[in-house]
This record gives sequence, structure tokens and C-alpha cells, in this order.
Amino acid sequence: MRYPHIPWLPLLFYPALPVAAAVGLMLWREWPPALTLIVPFVPWVMALIGAAICLMYQRSQTLALMLCVLAATAIWPTLAREAPWALGPALAWWSLAYTINALWAERSSVLLDMVLRIGLMALGVAAIALIGKDGLVDVFGTLAVQGKLARLGVPVEALVALLVTGLTLTLLLLRYGRPQQAGQWLGFVCMAWALPRGAQHPIELALMSAAALTALCISLAHEGFHMAFRDELTGLPGRRALNERLQRMGRVYTLAMADVDHFKAFNDTHGHDVGDQVLRMVASQLRRVPGGGQAYRYGGEEFTLVFPGKTAAESMPHLETVRRAIEAYQMRLRDKPARPKADQVGQRRRGARGRNVRPLRVTVSIGVAERNDALRAPDAVIKAADQALYKAKDGGRNQVCAFGARRARASAG
Ligand code: GH3
Ligand code: MG
Ligand code: MG
Repeated sequence: MRYPHIPWLPLLFYPALPVAAAVGLMLWREWPPALTLIVPFVPWVMALIGAAICLMYQRSQTLALMLCVLAATAIWPTLAREAPWALGPALAWWSLAYTINALWAERSSVLLDMVLRIGLMALGVAAIALIGKDGLVDVFGTLAVQGKLARLGVPVEALVALLVTGLTLTLLLLRYGRPQQAGQWLGFVCMAWALPRGAQHPIELALMSAAALTALCISLAHEGFHMAFRDELTGLPGRRALNERLQRMGRVYTLAMADVDHFKAFNDTHGHDVGDQVLRMVASQLRRVPGGGQAYRYGGEEFTLVFPGKTAAESMPHLETVRRAIEAYQMRLRDKPARPKADQVGQRRRGARGRNVRPLRVTVSIGVAERNDALRAPDAVIKAADQALYKAKDGGRNQVCAFGARRARASAG
């Protein structure tokens, strides 16, 4: 499932670190001899670490991709020596197998999944071996022999396969935007660069393969981090991330608790799916809160905003801005063909124009409290913000209330 509103570019940062290190090593031409001896073993070490993490998290897809990378790295020098005619088709098949594995969702048990994936990969290799040199020239015609692009030195069938894989993985990354896709994408880029040169530069192949496998390992760890700390529905950091953050606050900070108004009735009228969309919208507005505030999903339809280094008075205008933005936001929901009756009633009551689009609005109430001598622990500040939230609800909702203030500070205009 895609995390909403998460930009994909930062996901590439961590897996890109080993790739940058590998490129740096390649640019540094005066390697100590020991490094040349060590590098061929690094892919195996990384693959072992990766395999252990894959088994721990039951990630057969990444395990298969790692196997794909390791197998190519291991057999490439031999293949280049013994059967150079097979390099083009082997590269094309490698690329295709990588794509299939990246698209193939993990459904069954890890063991069955791995047997199927390895079986598929082996099938392609066996097919190339069986068809043989003469057969391959028949299959690809003159492509494999004459079609080498002069400058790239990559046979056309392999080039096409690499481009298709690159495009597919880019689309996957843009569509799902998770750490796993970022690791797959970078791992592929490393190998797509190194494999065509691998016959002449086996050390570079080993180095880039090590980078690819490390990128895949990092993306696995990053994925685990996301699963533990991100809220799946809204993409915001979740309760656990908030608790971690609260351990590291300084002496001055402000917490705000935001709660969607009349959300139960909203769910009852429009259905749980529309309710979920509302939560995503509210989260995306809270994420943009100005003033250095950070938004977390506390649970259900409650969110927490943390303002490090800010007093309640300094945070209030920013919270007021975000409250107004949510109030002004008009969601447009397409009607489903079979809508519940209650929904139609709701639409008439709201006087919505147009048959297929329902304009919907929601509001939030926000309670604010700052850390001070009376409220030292984060728990106490949260409790105080919660009390202020109750006050905002009692005061008519759709407003921001500070703990200890006598009256609601702001209300709907
Ligand atoms: P108030 O204005 O006083 O906050 O009223 P309310 O109806 O919003 O308050 P209440 O706490 O009674 O309702 C919270 C509702 O939020 C109940 C539950 O159905 C809904 N809810 C909690 N989590 C989710 C979720 O992840 N998705 C959806 N669609 N609804 C959720
Ligand atoms: Mg609530
Ligand atoms: Mg509520």
C-alpha cells in the first residue's frame, strides 16, 4: 500500500549512501592491494546479512532480488570466459527476472514463494543454455551479433530489457513510494551499470554488486523502521514515533492535541472509507503546519502537534492557521453507483449541487499546552493539552484552546 503524501526522493537517501561510497572507491584509482582481494567477498557478506533480515521479516521478494544480484555477480566472469555469446541474452534475462520479482507480490509462504521464484530464474538460465549459441542467433536474428550499440557495447536485446526494467522500477517507486522500492531501484541501477562492463571489469562488478546488496539491506531496515513508526493510513509518524520524540524534548516546547469534530456521525453518514479519506486530508493539512511544528497521528481521529522550542503563545497562530485551512478545505468525493440511503439524505440535507460530486467539509478542535515548571513530564503536557481540547469541544468545537486560558481563544468565523 502506498503511504500518502510521502515524497519518494528522501527514500533514496539511505540506500544511496553505499552506492556513493562504491562510486567514490571507483574514482579513487590507487587502491591498496588488500582492497582488491577483499572486494570480491563483500557481495557474499552483504547477501548473507540481507538473507538473514529477509528471513526475519519474511521478505521473499527482496531475498529473490538479492539472489538475482549475487548469482549474476558470481557467474558473470565465468560466463564471459566460457560463453561470451551468452552475455547479451543472459543480461536480458537477468533484467527481466529482476522486473518479474519486483512486480511479483509476496503471497504464499516464504519457502513456496522462494521455490517458485528461484525456479523461474533457473528456467530462463536453462533455456539460454539449451537453445545454445546457434539457436540464440536464430532467435534474435542479427540483433545479438550486429546490433551492438557502438558506444555502449550493450547488445540491443539486453538494452531493451534494461530500459523496460528501469522504467518499470521507476513507475513502482513513484506509485508506491516505499523504502523497498527505493532499494530495488538503486540496486538495479548499480547492476545495470556494472553488468555490461562486468566481463572486462570484474572488480567494479563486485564493488557495485556489494553496493546494490547493501542498498537492498538498508531498504529492508528502512522498511522495518517505517512499519514500526509510520501510520499506514495517513503516512504521518505514529504514536511510537511521538513517544520517542517526547523523550528528546528540550526545556521549552508546546504540544497540541487535535481531534476531528463529530467524526463518529461523519463515519455513520458517509461510511468508513470516506472517513479514512477525511483523516488523510486532515493529516496532510496538519503536516503542513507552519512554525516548525511536527504532526503525529496519536490514534483514531486524534493527532498531536509538537512545537520544539516554542511557547504556547508562539504556537497558537500556527495552529490557528492550520485549523482554518482544514475548515476551508472542501473535499470532493465521487459518488459510488450504489450509495447507502443515509448518504443521499446527507447530501440533500447539505444541499449539495451536482449529482456525482459531494462537497464535504470537516473541522477540528485543538487543545494546546506548553511545558513549564508545573508541567515537566511530556505525559503531563499531553494531559493538559487534552484538557484544553475538551474545553475547545465544550466551547462549540472548531477552535484552538490553550490550557489554563479562561476563554476559547479563537472560534470559527
Ligand atoms: P467529537 O466532536 O466530540 O470529537 O465527536 P466524535 O464523534 O469525533 O468523537 P468520538 O471519539 O466519539 O468518535 C471518534 C470516531 O472516530 C469513532 C471511530 O469510528 C472513528 N475512527 C477512529 N479511527 C478511525 C479510522 O482510522 N478510520 C475511520 N474512518 N474512522 C475512525
Ligand atoms: Mg476523539
Ligand atoms: Mg472527534
